[in-house]
Amino acid sequence: MFEIVNRQILSEGIKRIDVQAKDIARKAKPGQFVAVCPEEGDEKIPLTIVDTDTSRGTISFIFHEKGQTTGKLGSLPINESIYSIVGPLGSPARIEKKGNVICIATGVGIAQILPIARAYSKEGSKVIGIIGAKSKRKLMLESQMRICCNKIFVATEDGSYERKGLATDIFKKIINEQEVNLVYAIGSVEMMEAVCSVTKEKKIKTFVQLNPVMVDCMGMCGSCRVKVGGEMKHACIEGPEFDGHKVDFKEFKMRTQALEELDECHSHKLQPNPQKKESGPLAKYLWGFLKD
Ligand SMILES: Cc1cc2nc3c(=O)[nH]c(=O)nc-3n(C[C@H](O)[C@H](O)[C@H](O)COP(=O)(O)OP(=O)(O)OC[C@H]3O[C@@H](n4cnc5c(N)ncnc54)[C@H](O)[C@@H]3O)c2cc1C
Repeated sequence: MFEIVNRQILSEGIKRIDVQAKDIARKAKPGQFVAVCPEEGDEKIPLTIVDTDTSRGTISFIFHEKGQTTGKLGSLPINESIYSIVGPLGSPARIEKKGNVICIATGVGIAQILPIARAYSKEGSKVIGIIGAKSKRKLMLESQMRICCNKIFVATEDGSYERKGLATDIFKKIINEQEVNLVYAIGSVEMMEAVCSVTKEKKIKTFVQLNPVMVDCMGMCGSCRVKVGGEMKHACIEGPEFDGHKVDFKEFKMRTQALEELDECHSHKLQPNPQKKESGPLAKYLWGFLKD
């Protein structure tokens, strides 16, 4: 059992919890995640290891309370234990000294990029952080990013804090003004795709982290398959970090939409409509397996 030693509300709908997990804390590397099951019988969900403290034997994760499992996790009090945490999982991020590195993240992706930005900075790179959220209330970890980045830029979509607009607006400006040797992007698929289309043209190496639906998180179920460089990869063991220029974002969006559609149909006891969206035929095909 994994005891919760601290919990914090970071921003609207976003919580951080620190958990006693000595062995995971010792082994975890930036870019890795854990599979968390709050109580016996719950689904297990993948969450990034945002921080580790080897002296206290703790790991921390930060999550958006979006559904059943994250909601359950967020309601557990201090001193309560989490039923199971498996990890560290996934391939560690490939960190090396790279000169000027841009770390761009939006939404809960800011929590996922924090250990990456820290690692590049520790390795000796000059890190420029660009973080974005819908509004000031949804923005998180600004001060932690300020500590590990040489410079930081913040965008809010509604203009309630710092620059009004998208994080990618700032990104496009910076990349045209100064030399950048590597870009790391984590956030919405649209954001990562937009970043990659700019850096591909400029031939700047770009890593992204993909968050497909993962069920077993160990490469056996195949639900997290993503197309990268023309080949199907399991994001849970070969990722979640990938070369952004090789990711087939169109196919990634289609698979994600199809699984979301299936989830919706399953909860409302409806059949997927193959005409409804681009992902409709895939959702209908997968429905055939579920129904049997
Ligand atoms: C490698 C990786 C790291 C992640 N790190 C973080 C993080 O640090 N913080 C954070 O807030 N979120 C993170 N996510 C997304 C997080 O796993 C989902 O938001 C979470 O599974 C939603 O669960 P739920 O039951 O609350 O939501 P619901 O929408 O009610 O249920 C979704 C169900 O789908 C399954 N599922 C598995 N993977 C995903 C996924 N990627 N997205 C949505 N559903 C999924 C789970 O079985 C879950 O029960 C990460 C995802 C991946 C793949």
